[in-house]
Amino acid sequence: MQGLMQDYQLTLPPVFARAERMYGDKELVTATADGVLRQSYADWAAETRRLGGALDTLGISAEGRVGTFAWNTARHVALYWAIPCTGRVLHTLNIRLFAEQLTYIVNHADDEVIFVDRSLLPVFTKLLPTFEKVRHVVVMDDGADAVVPDDPRMIDYRELVDGAEPVDFGVDDENRAAAMCYTSGTTGNPKGVVYSQRSLYLHGLSAMMSTGLGIRETDRVLPVVPLFHANAWGLAQTPIFTGADLVLPGPGMAPEAIAALISSERVTFTAGVPTIWMGMLPLLDSYDFSSLRRIVGGGSAVPKALSEAYREKLGIPIVHAWGMTETSPLASVSLQRSSDAALSAVDQADQRARQGFCPVGVECRIVVPDTGEELPWDDTATGELQVRGPWIASGYYDDDRSAESFTSDGWLRTGDVAAVDTHGSIRLVDRTKDLVKSGGEWISSVELENRLMAHPAVAEAAVIGVPHPRWQERPIACVVLEDGATAGKDELIDHLRPHVAKWWLPDDVVFIDEVPKTSVGKFSKKDLRAQLADYVLPAGASPVDELG
Ligand code: ADP
Repeated sequence: MQGLMQDYQLTLPPVFARAERMYGDKELVTATADGVLRQSYADWAAETRRLGGALDTLGISAEGRVGTFAWNTARHVALYWAIPCTGRVLHTLNIRLFAEQLTYIVNHADDEVIFVDRSLLPVFTKLLPTFEKVRHVVVMDDGADAVVPDDPRMIDYRELVDGAEPVDFGVDDENRAAAMCYTSGTTGNPKGVVYSQRSLYLHGLSAMMSTGLGIRETDRVLPVVPLFHANAWGLAQTPIFTGADLVLPGPGMAPEAIAALISSERVTFTAGVPTIWMGMLPLLDSYDFSSLRRIVGGGSAVPKALSEAYREKLGIPIVHAWGMTETSPLASVSLQRSSDAALSAVDQADQRARQGFCPVGVECRIVVPDTGEELPWDDTATGELQVRGPWIASGYYDDDRSAESFTSDGWLRTGDVAAVDTHGSIRLVDRTKDLVKSGGEWISSVELENRLMAHPAVAEAAVIGVPHPRWQERPIACVVLEDGATAGKDELIDHLRPHVAKWWLPDDVVFIDEVPKTSVGKFSKKDLRAQLADYVLPAGASPVDELG
């Protein structure tokens, strides 16, 4: 017997229409070079509908890819809705990617038009001649005086949108593509992930729930995560689902600017990669953060010491979330369960440092990569983390590398190594490619980094493997000291000693000025390895005889 419920398509237009009607008095705030711009949801929604009309004016095809090359602004959020609500495909471009990768991505996705913030024109204009199918470039004036090139494709956003008619939104098929985002790609060209109307709808619902990000109508949400990074972690969609105010930092992504905005705009909810929260840590005493109720960290492991420092100063830890561009991206959140209250303070902090629980809609398993054998959830066995669910990718756009990343029974191979405890809480050990392989055993670079970053003199720590004649690889720690702090190699190794097996101890500590970062602000081990390509382990560094 079948259920007798309507076969209702899960698409974005009804979500938009509901927000437009119900939350017209809520606001989107954008920080600009000329001060703060405020727009009511009602005005924003009207602009979003005219933007939809503007896409018709430009003659963008029914399934046309519409690129954005932009900061976090209300206009960018309008694009997030206008494009898929007219059936087209939003394609967010990472403004910090290498030129060749951007060229590849724009051409691979067949972008027909790109919306660009004027302040980004100096970067963008150099790339424009390499874009094969781009017929229009819509320049969004953000107060910057960057020169608009003399090119017939250039169109002024204001003129275009003011001259366009508002349109009715509607999409018939929930499986239609709604947005694309390319993974930064550590090797080879980036890979295109294509979100559907349905996947964004379900991801948005999940992100609202207490098992997701738990965003409420009363929130004022500041996405520090760039809108071009991994579907902005749902933060261009979920606040609109729930009627929360949005506070958008524009180009002001420095820790001081973010701190000032949180304070002046009474932000309650914010999210970003751990390096942002590391940068803001020294400012916690200098600004008023009393409005904040939740800070989310993800994209790379949030060091326990960092989360604890926030908890001690602000009374709220950093809520740890895990995901990938391929997972829309919210795939697990480190939520506390009521039974955690019985744990010691130390155990609670350990619990929070885990990547946490998959929400309803995401299933996970850990397996032996070569055999596919499923491993037990005992928090000891570690294996490749695989996930599946309605907002998890099933393949990459027009890419023959898809086969490597998906199992024959339909799970996404994340490339992360994890253990899972009996309740289902995920603990990421490392990325497969970052594990240090010593004497046939694995060493978790993440574990060592987290321990090192708990030392008061250490601002940043990244551990990489370097070749070793006997052990194949040995870990070395690259450490950035806090301003004015001193700590030597021996002190840092002694600090690790009580916490890890002897053979895990790094063979060397290299002091550097800064850990190189990726285009989205994560530690870039790839660049760090390149930086240390000529590094040779000091003679006698490994306690070789004792390792095995
Ligand atoms: P990129 O490969 O460019 O970093 P993504 O932003 O999609 O692309 O990154 C996904 C990866 O980021 C995950 O596979 C995982 O290795 C890492 N990651 C994301 N969130 C966390 C987290 N909370 N803890 C540890 N690693 C994380």
